[in-house]
Amino acid sequence: MISFCSLFSGSSGNAIYLASDRTKILIDCGVSGKRIAASLTNIDVKASEIDAILVTHEHRDHAYAVGIMSRRYDIPIYANQQTWEGMQHLIGKIKEENRRYLYTCKDFCIQDIGIHPFAIPHDAAEPVGYNFYINNKKVTLATDIGHVNNELASRLEGSEMVLIESNHDLEMLKCGPYPYYLKQRIMGENGHLSNEAAGELIAHMVEKGTNQFLLGHLSKENNFPQLAYQTVYNILQSRGIKVGQDAIIEVAERNSTSKVYRF
Ligand SMILES: [Zn+2]
Ligand SMILES: [Zn+2]
Repeated sequence: MISFCSLFSGSSGNAIYLASDRTKILIDCGVSGKRIAASLTNIDVKASEIDAILVTHEHRDHAYAVGIMSRRYDIPIYANQQTWEGMQHLIGKIKEENRRYLYTCKDFCIQDIGIHPFAIPHDAAEPVGYNFYINNKKVTLATDIGHVNNELASRLEGSEMVLIESNHDLEMLKCGPYPYYLKQRIMGENGHLSNEAAGELIAHMVEKGTNQFLLGHLSKENNFPQLAYQTVYNILQSRGIKVGQDAIIEVAERNSTSKVYRF
């Protein structure tokens, strides 16, 4: 069985829990170690039981407590070469045996969990999303995506569930308080995915057979949960996709754990 839970999701910090019957992992640790351990307790998991931490990219909202968690609970960290270099200043000293290297686009395993890290367009050194394979079922995590291309879309197809970024509402971003350069960065090819773009991508994935979606990594300033949900809902309905029947859409909360999804 696969267990999947969003512990924290948003521009202020991300941490995801995923487990098979034998193996428990975290993807990203972007809030304090204390808060991550407490959120794991909420879903009856001890931080000391975590077998590995995977990192998507070196930005603070993903890597902030990676080093703390590794040192406190003696957990190996998996990241690609450039992410290791990019997050070095943020995570502090890591025991040699807990420094594990993965390669973008190359499959690997952590015990019984198969993992495929795929490249995503984002302004970090070597950012990745992940496909996870357990018992022939696939779950995908894809946040911090500047834009969707065919290769990326194909990595998401066939998943039981996808946690997909729904970062901002375009109008809120354009009219909001951010300085011009930051707006350009977020809207750019290597920035973040808008609610509208997430809706289009989800419609494509529903047509390819996925029906469970968790919208994540919402911007605090340029989005809110009901708006992200409604925008995606409207796009799906306009394509003849019935939300609640053909597709289940939920929004991952910034500061509290989602339900534990099991497949
Ligand atoms: Zn990022
Ligand atoms: Zn991020």
